[in-house]
Amino acid sequence: MPSLELRVLDGVNCIGGNKIAVSSGSEAVLLDFGINMKRKRDYLIGYRALAVANTLYYYLYSGVLPRIRGIYREDLVAVDERVKAILEKGEQIEASTCIFSHSHRDHYGASGFLSEDITLAMSRSMKTIMEAMLESSAASGIEAEVFEMRSRGEESRESRIRPTAIFEEYSRIQGAPFHITPCPIDHSIPAAFGFVIEDLSLAYTGDIRRHGALKSLTDRFIERARGVDYLIIEGTRIDSSIMIREDEIVWEIRRYAEEKEGKLVCVIVSPADVDRIRSIIQLSRELGRIPVLCPRAAYLIDRLAESGTRIPLPDLSDAGIYFERRSLTGGGYDLESQHYRGWLRKTYADRLDGRKPGVLVKAEEISEKQENYLLILGGLDQVLELAQVRPKPGSGLVVSTSEPHDEEQEIEWVKFERWVNLLRLDLRIAHSSGHADRESLIGIINEIRPRALIPVHTENSQEFHRLAEAGEIRCEVILPSPMKPIKLAS
Ligand SMILES: [Zn+2]
Repeated sequence: MPSLELRVLDGVNCIGGNKIAVSSGSEAVLLDFGINMKRKRDYLIGYRALAVANTLYYYLYSGVLPRIRGIYREDLVAVDERVKAILEKGEQIEASTCIFSHSHRDHYGASGFLSEDITLAMSRSMKTIMEAMLESSAASGIEAEVFEMRSRGEESRESRIRPTAIFEEYSRIQGAPFHITPCPIDHSIPAAFGFVIEDLSLAYTGDIRRHGALKSLTDRFIERARGVDYLIIEGTRIDSSIMIREDEIVWEIRRYAEEKEGKLVCVIVSPADVDRIRSIIQLSRELGRIPVLCPRAAYLIDRLAESGTRIPLPDLSDAGIYFERRSLTGGGYDLESQHYRGWLRKTYADRLDGRKPGVLVKAEEISEKQENYLLILGGLDQVLELAQVRPKPGSGLVVSTSEPHDEEQEIEWVKFERWVNLLRLDLRIAHSSGHADRESLIGIINEIRPRALIPVHTENSQEFHRLAEAGEIRCEVILPSPMKPIKLAS
């Protein structure tokens, strides 16, 4: 059997930006191709968007993207001598497929740069989530061209559809090199997968946890991966033993909301965390409050519902959809205005025409009867919407998204807190991580019992070494260096 080679292109000693190349003989596959958000932010200067003509050059130059030949879009490389010169010095990888573990941008967000000879493989629901989140995001230029590419550097401005392959859970991925089985797992977004590459005796966890509603899926993945030679494992929280279960979050919000009689309660949660949103909507009804959902989350739920997904979706039938004031005409709510982007206009028009469940609720309406509502917003920046609602002093605001973990996010947080104080809100944090804590990771490793472990997606990979030395995990630990090939015996 040909030798097995693993190369962690990115996502070493940092959280996010996973890009892993697995090759054997003449075949190679990429596992995830995420954007390294931290590195991107580290080099992002000013507010201007990078010109399309320079993006790939800047990203290769600053290490936001790895210097590898053969994986980038030919149309972007062909038009830029500087890019060609950088890539000429890089190593070549001939991958035919890139397989995605889930639709968080740090796992798929750089795919717009990938060569169209590389097929993107994902589950159907994962694709729907990526499409809906991309469409409703601020992503622009090449980063937005994951599924549809505009020809660059040619006369024609036609767009081309990138080849994708849809995989089914527990069934071999068709068209991919190697025998790869996708296994659904528990994470903070639906349609998240780990993989077992059967013929290479290798497993990859993607982002994984064991304390959410889908714990049993993680258990089943462990079962499938048991006894593999090599395990590529995420280690986001290898230095933390704090394990707050997903269901505790909902109790926490309930207890808190009950204290807020006569006042508004608002929860900030990731629009893609469909399970948590479903629980909060359910809770809101139990509390006798009308749930009002931010439009981005509503749009994602609409798209998933249309796709016929098996993911359990929130019932929006008597929910409100938060109507953002965007136009300078029609009293601020003129849907014909260009200030409503396509996806947003559609989300609202579908309610006005009665095609989709839920009614539109404006800031003024919430303001008038604050005690009747539980508002679900999608990010810290939406505190600006609260400034329009003008909650009564002491109203409740719960942040249920991950805590800031780099300098830039800390700066955002400080600004957010300024608004919270200006609005005189009572702020609480209630969050359960999407990632397994140290004790759960030890459990996962010892149940799978690989010969060797390759930690990624962590700022603290040494901790795996320490655990092995202390005899807490019983396997060899291979710490990857960025881009350096790891030769494995197969
Ligand atoms: Zn993730």
